[in-house]
Amino acid sequence: MVKLSKGAKIAIIGAGLVGSSAAFSIMSSGLASDLVLVDINRAKAEGEAMDLGDAAAFIKPTNVYAGSFEDCQDSNIIVFTAGANQKPGETRLDLVHKNVNILKESLPQLLKYCPNAIYLIVANPVDVLTYVALKISGLPFNQIFGSGTVLDTSRFRAEVADYCNVDPRNVHAYIVGEHGDSEVPIWSTADVAGIPLEQFSKLRGLKPICRNEIARRVSTAAYEIIQRKGATYYAIAVSIKRICETILRDENSILTVSGMVNDVYGIQDCCLSLPSIVSGFGREKVLTISMTEEEEAALRNSAQVLKEVIKQAGF
Ligand code: NAD
Repeated sequence: MVKLSKGAKIAIIGAGLVGSSAAFSIMSSGLASDLVLVDINRAKAEGEAMDLGDAAAFIKPTNVYAGSFEDCQDSNIIVFTAGANQKPGETRLDLVHKNVNILKESLPQLLKYCPNAIYLIVANPVDVLTYVALKISGLPFNQIFGSGTVLDTSRFRAEVADYCNVDPRNVHAYIVGEHGDSEVPIWSTADVAGIPLEQFSKLRGLKPICRNEIARRVSTAAYEIIQRKGATYYAIAVSIKRICETILRDENSILTVSGMVNDVYGIQDCCLSLPSIVSGFGREKVLTISMTEEEEAALRNSAQVLKEVIKQAGF
């Protein structure tokens, strides 16, 4: 009889608020059999692993431990959350120099032990770090990508769902571009159960939707949370779990992850989010959805904002 192999191994680099919350979400879902936490503050990673491990009697067996880059060997996915987070009043782009340096130090070591893993960049500014990671590693575009606007898209769907009074899972609408201030809501293709949003709104006798107000609430959500509790971590943790799930289960789910964009919407050589098929190969295919001229122009502007920061970062 052939003994079946163990499940998936996920390494999380950075066991801070985002990394440890992602570990909790992944562990609770039973998605991985091995979960390695790596942090420059080894005691912190150990403490988080011990705390998570204490849930052993209530979850699917999961080997959670603190480790080194070497311990990441054979990981299917590396989730990169190491780095400073936004302080009140800071933008994501303000974090660039600190976090680019952390990435430049860590990535070559990870690549030594995990050349075949899929790399999911989460630390901010996520689009810039994804670009830097691609350039440093030379890995193919499907293998390194960022969490991008997966979280923003969830926020957008929740807002639209609230307006329509329906389950957010029945809303299809995307935030594209930068995970940050220049992000772009795509209203023109937003629908509820296949019914264009405007039509659904009339059908239900709703008052006209206030697009600007919804877009503002989505793009400022992180600032509002950071002002109140200092950081955001639960919803990004669930977003990370969702991305890992579609990779490990080869689901071909469409998610607005961030990755290299070339020759679409007039954009060249920039990392930003577009709806993409995510599978066991990683970010397998970028979907060029139809947009209005204004939406395309806003997307190009977002790319321009990112390219300037990428240049400032020396890439
Ligand atoms: P945090 O300060 O709580 O944790 C960061 C951790 O990284 C710390 O434990 C620190 O010791 C560790 N670290 C620093 N340098 C390291 C290195 N060289 N090697 C290993 N570990 C190292 O911060 P956080 O709230 O967990 O946020 C982490 C990152 O995630 C930030 O950049 C934040 O902006 C980003 N974030 C992204 C999203 C998103 O949607 N992409 C959402 C929320 C937060």
